[in-house]
Amino acid sequence: MAIPAPTEPTWRGAARCRRDNAVHFFPPAHFERKEDKDLREGQARALCRACPVRQECLDYSLAVRELHGIWGGLNELERRRTLRQRVALH
Ligand code: SF4
Repeated sequence: MAIPAPTEPTWRGAARCRRDNAVHFFPPAHFERKEDKDLREGQARALCRACPVRQECLDYSLAVRELHGIWGGLNELERRRTLRQRVALH
């Protein structure tokens, strides 16, 4: 019996970052200056603020412990902080 392929979360079909430039959501392969990172992340966050599936995206990224990029409007450091806060509350 074949192992089923993982299915893509359904919320991704409504993601704003599918229609806009995804380059804002992940760091480049080369060194990125802090000013450039702040600018890039700001552009990504602006898209996230208008995204209809922001909460689903954030919940997914926290559930899979996504290590890189902007998800649900939060960068990797902010997601780690959110996870620590959730653990501290339980
Ligand atoms: S919240 Fe941001 S990263 Fe998540 S799907 Fe929407 S636009 Fe993409």
